[in-house]
Amino acid sequence: MLFCSRRLVGDATCACYNPRVTRAAASGYSNNLLASILVLGTSSRMEDASLKRPQVVIVGAGFGGLEAAKKLACKDVHVTVIDRTNYHLFQPLLYQVATAALSPADIAAPVRAVLSKCRNIEVILAEVESVDVAARKVNLGDMEVAYDYLILATGARHSYFGHDEWEKLAPGLKSLEDAIELRRRLLMAFEYAEKITDEAARKAAMTFVIIGGGPTGVEMAGAIAEIARYTLANDFRHIDPSQARVILVEGEPRLIAAFPEDLSASALKQLVDLGVEVRTGVQATNLSEAGVEVGGEFIPCRVKIWAAGNNASFVGKTLGVPIDKVGRVIVNDDLTIPGRPEIQVIGDLANFSHQTGKPLPGVSPVAMQQGRHAARNILAMIEGGKPQRFWYWDKGSMATIGRNRAVADLNFVHFSGLPAWLAWLFVHIIFLVGFRNRLVVLFQWAWAYFTFNKGARLITRNFQSETRPPA
Ligand SMILES: Cc1cc2nc3c(=O)[nH]c(=O)nc-3n(C[C@H](O)[C@H](O)[C@H](O)COP(=O)(O)OP(=O)(O)OC[C@H]3O[C@@H](n4cnc5c(N)ncnc54)[C@H](O)[C@@H]3O)c2cc1C
Repeated sequence: MLFCSRRLVGDATCACYNPRVTRAAASGYSNNLLASILVLGTSSRMEDASLKRPQVVIVGAGFGGLEAAKKLACKDVHVTVIDRTNYHLFQPLLYQVATAALSPADIAAPVRAVLSKCRNIEVILAEVESVDVAARKVNLGDMEVAYDYLILATGARHSYFGHDEWEKLAPGLKSLEDAIELRRRLLMAFEYAEKITDEAARKAAMTFVIIGGGPTGVEMAGAIAEIARYTLANDFRHIDPSQARVILVEGEPRLIAAFPEDLSASALKQLVDLGVEVRTGVQATNLSEAGVEVGGEFIPCRVKIWAAGNNASFVGKTLGVPIDKVGRVIVNDDLTIPGRPEIQVIGDLANFSHQTGKPLPGVSPVAMQQGRHAARNILAMIEGGKPQRFWYWDKGSMATIGRNRAVADLNFVHFSGLPAWLAWLFVHIIFLVGFRNRLVVLFQWAWAYFTFNKGARLITRNFQSETRPPA
């Protein structure tokens, strides 16, 4: 079995390791010189073999990139997966980390471990700064990696519609760091309220405003309402957490606008039943430490959460091809970019409008199906064929609101409440990466279901700074 290290640009060597040869040399069967000759001879033959293999670089080990890598496992290609984190993150459960239901490690799996059995795949932990399309290299700042085929899957971040200064005031939810920061803010708000005597400040501390009524905003609003009403209900002596106000603001006339109208209405009802105040058709126009202005009304609040918009990763721009207004690369119908069949862009970074006339939604099934398709395209091109048109198979969508509360649109049938919630649980457990994660999450959910307890209520970092009243 061979393991070849990365092929660096300008460095023709490809260090290969053959356990059989090195073991023989170490155990004294041959003298050192003979062993070295053996190792070198074998190594250079392997070098040649490795260099002849097409070099595939995948940037991003999220939903799209990881699927592409798995599809290329054990194929006659050398694959380099580059990600700026060392883990694959299951973003759909981030809100559960932010609301203390799960721990960060429960929803993340080390990329190396996931791919460790795929001997033709190596992993580099690094941030890609740009792609040199003409030279076919990916630039990591301190090194470059050459490719014959490139899959770009660097996803998206939130967008503050030109108000980047709002990011500190109202963090979004895209990364584990975001989720831990939100958890800290949520839990600290109750701690702060418990300590102070000023009624107005206490009310502001116990008011949570979520901006954006898409699936993430709906999930966060429901989860915060549940924490306040059930989990923390008996934990404080000077405040009643169940009196916390949770306000969800959406600029569109209805919540989860990508879902059918009946499910939007159902989501609204389920949130209202949980005690969430929902304001639709209004914008959050002004954010400050002290609060947020919503439709002309100023709402004093300590914790604000941003769930309102996305911007594609900056790496797409460096390709020098057309992008849309949120930075997504406009791809051909086969996922390649104009004039460059060796480059494919997938997932949240891609604007694929060839199926419905509108870009496909930024959801994990799109990214995963595109990842597999991009890998198939590469194998076809290596065989001398052409990349094929991509078709998305939409199996429907779901959003959860809280315990026994969710909505599900399976295209041919819509349902909500307990059946939708059970379906949501099942799908999320199935797609969670890693057996350990599935087991732990299942256990945590069962525990939380029967006890109303959320086990990950840790406040980390910045304890002192949070004891200050808001400016
Ligand atoms: C809070 C939240 C909840 C969601 N809930 C759902 C849901 O319930 N159902 C659903 O289907 N979808 C959901 N989504 C959307 C879904 O997670 C995305 O559509 C999906 O992750 C997109 O996959 P991707 O591979 O394009 O990007 P990602 O999964 O975001 O992966 C991008 C990868 O690229 C890496 N990366 C980024 N930039 C660089 C760089 N410069 N250099 C190196 N590496 C880089 C990142 O570290 C990351 O690992 C949710 C998203 C969020 C944020």
